[in-house]
Amino acid sequence: MRITVLTLFPAMFPAILNDSIIKRAKENNLVTFEIINFRDFSSNKHKMVDDTPYGGGAGMVLAVEPIYKALTSIEGYESALKILLTPQGKTYHQSVAKELISEEHIILICGHYEGFDDRVREFIDIEVSIGDYVLTGGEIAALTIIDSVVRLIPGALGSKESYENDSFYEDTLDYPQYTKPREFRGLKVPDVLLSGNHQEIAKWREEMKVKRTLERRPDLHKKSN
Ligand code: SAM
Repeated sequence: MRITVLTLFPAMFPAILNDSIIKRAKENNLVTFEIINFRDFSSNKHKMVDDTPYGGGAGMVLAVEPIYKALTSIEGYESALKILLTPQGKTYHQSVAKELISEEHIILICGHYEGFDDRVREFIDIEVSIGDYVLTGGEIAALTIIDSVVRLIPGALGSKESYENDSFYEDTLDYPQYTKPREFRGLKVPDVLLSGNHQEIAKWREEMKVKRTLERRPDLHKKSN
């Protein structure tokens, strides 16, 4: 999979892309990244990419031209899925992450300041929001999408089971997990997990998934029934 990011703040990316599972996926050639600064596409002598809004009002708006130029400079951009990050987009869910892994190439466009000139919307395919709150820029949203998609690429995690049991893979939350010691300050690991009876353990985990989902996210439970 190829992931290209258009941003004004490329320095925000290396820490996340060069660590943990994403780093390993890169090293195993499961994913490649290109981080493009659209300031490099400014035709302004001061390399400005934003300007005051027509009609007045607070803040600065990212201009359409450098974004368009940066986008069209990407090799194969026509066939890539072009995603605009905006709080006004469709809310991101695990189901969208699952769909995105079948894409060969995605381009993530990060806004900043007051946002971007609305004409940018003419050059993209979908608009995605990571939730009903406003971030300073699209970079954290882009990294959220990257992280959640890369871990689903076959081979990125040790086994399929690792993500198939995760919350939201189906419309349930994950079951509770424990590790050593068996007892900590009087808090004990459920006996069934120490029983060695795999059938009973699987049954308990399924029951706990349903219980947790009903208690914490009855909306999800309703969706799956
Ligand atoms: N004025 C814009 C609005 O209310 O729709 C918000 C601009 S926000 C301060 C700057 C940029 O951060 C946006 O253009 C977008 O790229 C990104 N952003 C902010 N919140 C986001 C969210 N919930 N999901 C995805 N991107 C977001």
